[in-house]
Amino acid sequence: MIPTGLPLTYTTVVRGRPLSYRVTMSPRARAWRLTIHPDSGLTIVLPARSRIDVAGLLDSRSRWIFRHLDRLARHPVPAAPPLIGHGSILRYLGGPLRLELAAGARVAEVDEAAGVLRAPAADHRPLRATIETWYRRRAETVFAERLRLINDGLGYRFQRVTIRDQKTRWGSCSARGNLAFNWRLMMAPIEIVDSVVVHELVHLIVLSHSRAFWDRVAAIDPAYLAHRRWLRDHGPHLVLGG
Ligand SMILES: [Zn+2]
Repeated sequence: MIPTGLPLTYTTVVRGRPLSYRVTMSPRARAWRLTIHPDSGLTIVLPARSRIDVAGLLDSRSRWIFRHLDRLARHPVPAAPPLIGHGSILRYLGGPLRLELAAGARVAEVDEAAGVLRAPAADHRPLRATIETWYRRRAETVFAERLRLINDGLGYRFQRVTIRDQKTRWGSCSARGNLAFNWRLMMAPIEIVDSVVVHELVHLIVLSHSRAFWDRVAAIDPAYLAHRRWLRDHGPHLVLGG
């Protein structure tokens, strides 16, 4: 049996094309899942003690897999974003924000009119931590505001809202009605933030990605397909340097 949580990499040939993939076992997973991520490539997530035929699964999903891998190849992610420092351009809600380091500053503070984020001068690691903390604080405020605004006309009921640091997910909605959002969305334009809010709000009513789910999403966010496409293409670039 594959030890839980330990990713193993395999290479095989599917429909005449070589394909590398990782397999992870998740005790929390209820069904198999395929994910494709710029860093790790294709991963098959299996519930513990799964007996699924992996070769058959890869074959039946080969069109989806190769389509996504090809798209990733067309939008390569920079190997490592440049280190942030004085004068770096950060993204905030889709616009540029110039980072200014000041010896006297105690916390990071934004001057939106000037398009500047002022932060205490510090070594690289603490500086990065300060900036991430700033983004997370902004995310708490912005998501609370957008949720209130968008849900005003919907009246859906949710419980807790948390801001997370997820590698591959932008948001989530638990069966209990808790919502979570990725702080990196603070680097995306507001309409993208809103589209993720809409997506998770609709999950309060329809948990699966069924036809009914997408119909409801489309009714609230008619351009949701374009928003999803934007996130797919630009999402991997929403990272903090260094
Ligand atoms: Zn979803």
